[in-house]
Amino acid sequence: MAERLDVDIDVVVVGAGLGGIYAVHRLRQAGLSVVGIEGASDVGGVWFHNRYPGARVDLASLDYSYHFSDKIWREWRWSERYAAQPELLAYLNFASSELDVRRDFLFDTWVTGARWNAARARYELTTSTGASITAKYLVMTTGQLSAARPPAFPGLDQFGGRVVMTSHWPHDHVETRGKRIGLIGTGSSGVQAAPPLAEAGEHLYVFQRTPNYAVPAQNAPAEEGAQEAIGARLADERERLISATRRAVNDPIPQHPVGHYSKQEQQAILRAQWERGGTSMNRLFTDQGTDLVANTVVADFVRDRVRETVTDARTAEALLPTYPIGVRRLILENGYYEMYNRENVTLVDIRSEPITEITPGGIRTRDAYYEIDLLVFALGFDAFTGSLRGANIRDAQGVELTSRWTRGPRNLLGMMTTGFPNLFMPTGAGSPSVLANLFLQNEFAIDWITDCIAFMESRGYASIEPTEEAEDEWAAHVAEAANTGLRMQYDNYMVHVNKDDGSRVFMPYLGGMESYVKRARAVAADGFTGFKLS
Ligand code: NAP
Repeated sequence: MAERLDVDIDVVVVGAGLGGIYAVHRLRQAGLSVVGIEGASDVGGVWFHNRYPGARVDLASLDYSYHFSDKIWREWRWSERYAAQPELLAYLNFASSELDVRRDFLFDTWVTGARWNAARARYELTTSTGASITAKYLVMTTGQLSAARPPAFPGLDQFGGRVVMTSHWPHDHVETRGKRIGLIGTGSSGVQAAPPLAEAGEHLYVFQRTPNYAVPAQNAPAEEGAQEAIGARLADERERLISATRRAVNDPIPQHPVGHYSKQEQQAILRAQWERGGTSMNRLFTDQGTDLVANTVVADFVRDRVRETVTDARTAEALLPTYPIGVRRLILENGYYEMYNRENVTLVDIRSEPITEITPGGIRTRDAYYEIDLLVFALGFDAFTGSLRGANIRDAQGVELTSRWTRGPRNLLGMMTTGFPNLFMPTGAGSPSVLANLFLQNEFAIDWITDCIAFMESRGYASIEPTEEAEDEWAAHVAEAANTGLRMQYDNYMVHVNKDDGSRVFMPYLGGMESYVKRARAVAADGFTGFKLS
């Protein structure tokens, strides 16, 4: 799309990931003028940037797809149970072409500022290319895991080899063959990247700070006929996933607490899930997320599998997580634990042996020195608020959005926040977000936003924002939903911890997709109760 200078339009959508693609399509379809802005050179969002070897989705592809279009569903075929990054990116390219959304995106363009002008009831946006745009509505489909945590190790700038990040894997060829590779970070990204790096490299050193639980994906070719069967009832499937499931995926629903079963039955249930593969290991018993004893039954089962798989007892012991299973993101692995049986893989436990510096030729820890040619960082993200902060969004007084959230993000339904009229933040903190299927969640949230805008336009409103009271009530509800679970008590990127008093805010909404959708629909049906319209 040609650069547009000084245009005034209805909606700016920021980000061309799976949410932004749908938002541009849906809002345009509703008769609004829309401009999309994307920092990368093309669509894809996280699947554009996270092109590291081994990158793969951990929800079933048949769930992790657009469900709004029969045509896209019919004309695309997933090849595997869990699609790999190249296929996911190809899918998003295909959907973008089908929907013809690229013509409304400015690519290679970053939003550098967006300020609400109350007199004009418009956001005034500036961009890295000099284009300035005013828009009545601003929709931030910038994702929750987009702003990468940069590496900050002493000596890194003197390192003589190549340095890459999984979250922004370079587009040019990264030579891994024959390299001594240092991988730092063992979350979902590091655990996925490790086996192919070990396969290609001369040696892989995995620098682990906290061991995490990983369960087998048991990836397989797509099941014959399954996609067609869902396609025949796609609208019903979409509605069922959105309004009657906790995560907008086809998960088995736990029926009973651990104690309902004999020890043998518990083991049989766990074993069957291990063999089936997938993150449903988190949802076998009704009390495993709330009761430590129940949780330990599942955690011990997984720890036993690690001991069974990894032949070197010291390495196996270092790989065993000590926190309850499911309180941090459960990782799907493809050969991660077996990888440690290779002679060219070394686990370095940097909790007991911290990294002291990076030198031109490698990594020095307190106890040893490792010669490295290629450094791979998989350090995670400034989750939820990082990508919003990057856009430098300011209220009418010039106060930056995220600077108001020093004690955790605040909003109503995760969609909007006080002081920032007409700013929508779908799938962010305060919504099910990373706990649910982001395709369906984006479809739901963007439909809701489209309805909200249609409501305003049909009644001639200039602006909408939540009331303080409604925001307080939502914050209390989000906190209540989180308080029953073990998750809240353990540090991970979903928990905001206030340093002064140690109080904790669980950022995503743990009440479940179905409950979220029920509430959001009720708000809309009631003429947007909890919001100030002017
Ligand atoms: P992450 O889960 O936040 O993991 C970051 C890793 O880096 C952790 O092991 C962390 O250790 C380590 N780390 C951070 N700073 C460090 C430091 N200064 N020194 C040493 N180690 C350090 O990030 P991620 O792996 O990118 O995953 C983030 C989320 O992205 C996932 O939870 C998931 O939602 C999503 N994701 C999904 C997929 C998929 O669908 N399959 C794949 C990749 C990512 P500590 O634990 O000690 O902090």
